[in-house]
Amino acid sequence: MNKRILVVEDDKAIGNLIKMTLATQHYEYDIVHDGQSALQETLLKRPDVIILDLGLPDIDGVNLIQKIRSWSLTPIIVVSARDEEYDKINALDSGADDYVTKPFSVEELLARIRVAIRRNTSQQNLSQSQPVFVNGNLRIDYSANTVLVHGHEVHLTPIEYKLLVVLSKHVGKVLTHNFLLKEVWQIVQHSDVPSLRVFMATLRKKIEEDPANPKYIQTHIRVGYRMLRHVEE
Ligand code: CA
Repeated sequence: MNKRILVVEDDKAIGNLIKMTLATQHYEYDIVHDGQSALQETLLKRPDVIILDLGLPDIDGVNLIQKIRSWSLTPIIVVSARDEEYDKINALDSGADDYVTKPFSVEELLARIRVAIRRNTSQQNLSQSQPVFVNGNLRIDYSANTVLVHGHEVHLTPIEYKLLVVLSKHVGKVLTHNFLLKEVWQIVQHSDVPSLRVFMATLRKKIEEDPANPKYIQTHIRVGYRMLRHVEE
């Protein structure tokens, strides 16, 4: 069955561009122009992915994500303007999965949609307590606390391991600096992004073949990191 996408966008030109893009890929879609209709359509049509413009005329986009997340796990891709950087981070922390920044290319948007659909499907197929995580040549055994790359065990410090586990548990999703700091160090107040970068660098040296060109952990400048999903090689 074709995937159904809900587009929430009050800008007519951008809305049309997204509509045309989705049509070329044979996605089913609905488009609404405000937050209230977005909530109704989400309930009614149960879309597979929601593309959400953060600046809506009625409800604040971040607020809308919180409302949707209170009862639905449908992947949400946020569309934000450059001056909405802070909102974008808040949107991710409120449960959005990903974002594109205006102006975006249609290829970029389609790639994000594919990631979101894949993530949603693998989430549905995943049993609650999967003891082993496999992604490409990376293997994490959560019960034994071991990490293997190409079948060879790599030795991580407790912080590096925790960081890797958090990323793997949310594979495909962009995790903000604040989210990672909270999950790994239980830091809530001040955000120590420089230390996070240091640990990320040492972790990458251990798991990435080419740390300067990471395959598993993608950097989102000023936002956070995402673990990319790879097929087993
Ligand atoms: Ca708007």
